[in-house]
Amino acid sequence: MEFMKELGLEGVLSGTYAGEWISGEGRDQLVSVSPATGETIGTILQTSEADYERVMQSSTEAWKKWRMTPAPIRGLVIRDLADELRKFKEPLGKLVSLEMGKIYQEGLGEVQEMIDICDFAVGLSRQLYGKTMPSERPEHRIQEQWHPLGVIGIITAFNFPVAVYAWNAALAAVCGDAMIWKPSSKTPLCAVAVQNIVNRVAKRHDCEGVFNLIIGKGSTVGERLLQDKRVPLVSFTGSVPMGRHVSETVGRRLGRTILELGGNNAVVVMEDADIDNAVNSVFFGAVGTSGQRCTSTRRVLVHKDVKGEFVSKLVEKYQHVRIGDPLDSSTVMGPLVDEQAIVAYERAMDEVKKAGGKILYAGERIEGKGSFVKPCIAEVKNDFKIVQEETFAPLLYIIEIDSIDDAIEKHNDVPQGLSSSIFTRNFHYAEKFVSPAGSDCGMANINLGTSGAEIGGAFGGEKETGGGRESGSDAWKLYMRRLTSAINYGSEFVLAQGIKFGEDD
Ligand code: NAD
Repeated sequence: MEFMKELGLEGVLSGTYAGEWISGEGRDQLVSVSPATGETIGTILQTSEADYERVMQSSTEAWKKWRMTPAPIRGLVIRDLADELRKFKEPLGKLVSLEMGKIYQEGLGEVQEMIDICDFAVGLSRQLYGKTMPSERPEHRIQEQWHPLGVIGIITAFNFPVAVYAWNAALAAVCGDAMIWKPSSKTPLCAVAVQNIVNRVAKRHDCEGVFNLIIGKGSTVGERLLQDKRVPLVSFTGSVPMGRHVSETVGRRLGRTILELGGNNAVVVMEDADIDNAVNSVFFGAVGTSGQRCTSTRRVLVHKDVKGEFVSKLVEKYQHVRIGDPLDSSTVMGPLVDEQAIVAYERAMDEVKKAGGKILYAGERIEGKGSFVKPCIAEVKNDFKIVQEETFAPLLYIIEIDSIDDAIEKHNDVPQGLSSSIFTRNFHYAEKFVSPAGSDCGMANINLGTSGAEIGGAFGGEKETGGGRESGSDAWKLYMRRLTSAINYGSEFVLAQGIKFGEDD
């Protein structure tokens, strides 16, 4: 495929970048498979234990120089990266679609998100503001500065194989950190392609060692990153069980984490909602990316007065969803990522039936090449065990509610807390939903769905979603350390709190 060539993906590829690509005999191979066809699309040499050490050492060396590079100059690197990504938007969007299985439009959207966060980070490079504050002591002042942290680890999930890296990398770079990226082993080609794009820019700016890559099993190189005391921050995006392990392992050595974990996102549809808008948003939220977004809509809490109309309009849309080749422009829903995902989907549908749920639109595996399924809608009770879990597939639960208070109570009654939304024209309902007594998620939208965030706001969730924040707003502070300094510009020895020490009264 021509676009693979354009991205530098030919032959057996190295999965280790330490200021230069590292390869050679004796490394385990990883094969990347297209979920739409089951065919092999690339082979990568995985990072060995010795490679890891080399990556860490070269990153540390690069960081020592990078931390002293003025932040606005670091911003120029990211400005060029945004331009380079603009040039490669189409081939990279296609690769995301080919390797992960999301439709091409969503692949392009992911690359656009990379560009957007780079643009954001360029401005940020001149806004890493610290505060100054009055001192209680005469001829003293107090200031805070933000300094780079060091070599940070970025571990990403398969479902956003390029954007989540950029969210972290663009901010970390302007903040003065060097980084080691461990992508999902389900999407290694995307990582190599992005690294190739980054390298073109880094070479021009003589900072190749700042952006590094390791590809290998979570249980080997991923674990190495978690346990490495030289890594002050691990930004982890993935499932709740894995996030718990990351938190425990990094926490044990008192390292820092940013955790972006699973969601169980609900849309509330009140009796006065614009039903067509709600149906379109839920359709995109549940079927888009084949239900494989952290922000995918998993539950609809619909008022009993409009449930019938809402469900019949939604089912009508499901009947016409075009499932197939994600690179075909007429396709709306591509495959699931692999066989394991189909098994989890089938298990969840079985659980729903066993618990007494009612299937409103039947999901099932589509036989043939690739990991394709039909999406499913089921009417359930919020307290079913399976409803309390995140099933990473196009399985949508309908739950009846009878008031705003009932909606908020059921909405919050799950362990996760990522994204949420309400459809209503009622000012009181809308404000209540975003009040301290409303949604307990990290994100709450009004009259738009749960998925499709912009980079400007801080992105992340509460409860078992992990509490991390990435992307816009002041998420950058997590990639830096704060240095508070008190400065005496006079010549008197003066202690705070009026303490006298060894002086005559
Ligand atoms: P996953 O937890 O299986 O894997 C995530 C990453 O962890 C992968 O890179 C994997 O190789 C790595 N890993 C596995 N074992 C490890 C170990 N012992 N040490 C270190 N790393 C290890 O998740 P997934 O299936 O790739 O992605 C789907 C999940 O990610 C869903 O739960 C989804 O909601 C979540 N997600 C969350 C966000 C968010 O921002 N909140 C965004 C995207 C995805």
